[in-house]
Amino acid sequence: MAEFSIIEKYFTSLGREHSDTSLSVGDDAAIISVPDGFEMVVSVDTMTEGIHFFEGLSPELLAHKLLAVNLSDMAAMGARPKWVTLAMGLSSHDEQWLKRFSETFDKVAKAHGVQLIGGDTTEGPLVLSLTIMGLLPKGMSMQRSKAAVGDDIYCSGYIGDAALALTKLLGEQNLTDDVFSDVLPALHMPQPQVTLGQRLLGQVSCCIDLSDGLIGDGEHIAQQSGVSLEIEIRSLPISDAYRQYLKEGGFIKYAIAGGDDYQLLFTAPQGKESTFEKMAKELDVKITKIGRVTKQGDTLVQLLDDGKPSLTKLKAFQHFR
Ligand code: ADP
Ligand code: MG
Repeated sequence: MAEFSIIEKYFTSLGREHSDTSLSVGDDAAIISVPDGFEMVVSVDTMTEGIHFFEGLSPELLAHKLLAVNLSDMAAMGARPKWVTLAMGLSSHDEQWLKRFSETFDKVAKAHGVQLIGGDTTEGPLVLSLTIMGLLPKGMSMQRSKAAVGDDIYCSGYIGDAALALTKLLGEQNLTDDVFSDVLPALHMPQPQVTLGQRLLGQVSCCIDLSDGLIGDGEHIAQQSGVSLEIEIRSLPISDAYRQYLKEGGFIKYAIAGGDDYQLLFTAPQGKESTFEKMAKELDVKITKIGRVTKQGDTLVQLLDDGKPSLTKLKAFQHFR
């Protein structure tokens, strides 16, 4: 099938249509308008077969994850996601694959109110690159450089499950069936905190989404804000499955330096516990206070074990190993 018919058949009207889209898929470029009082927030994330996902991963899981990791960047900025463009490298034109991919893409995009307005399709290794655009009330951004000494540090959801699941898929360690089946969805179907991100606007000093792991992303905040972060290991939000794995002799490191969590890590002035408690109840998400921002020291992210400096030194997960 020719490139043009693929686009026409599978990628012309995916997601939720918006009235401020004047021109969508089909022309040389799309045209969208930004309403008065808003700014546009733009981000791109690329997934390559064999690097970011295993060969043969189902098209449904791929479509879900591609949107999820991009939506998570909007969440971290507090933006409302609206538009995406999709650049794909395809090694073969497998119609079944395209159908399944585009159907899930449509479903997830609709669920988040996102419209596909363009893209690029080429032959090559399987690479999926999504550019996402969202709207943010003018001047309301949450930036990595705004954490202040004395702020509390919070984290949404549970962390570590995705990295734990990955260790089994990579054959690095065995997990019991119960633990594995409970942690696998975190890796395959991450749930970006899009609603929470928007609710945090005006309440927090800084926010980031956890893609490289708590230490790695914590270091980004510390570096850009010129501070250090003290994080209490015992306060980390760990799922029941992860707890079970720890009981069986497992390691805490995947929660500390794993990656692929797609939860939000944010800092806020002291005394906001009840605000976040209320928010957590309303949105049915877990929000946990895990530490404190301090004056910059030798260590950007200092782990504490029951209040005392922990000896655990863990490097962030990095793609370029
Ligand atoms: P051009 O040669 O102008 O780049 P293309 O033939 O690449 O145009 O694309 C034609 C139209 O289809 C454009 O509007 C483009 O945005 C859209 N498009 C191409 N690939 C995709 C895709 N995978 N998903 C959505 N839209 C796509
Ligand atoms: Mg093109």
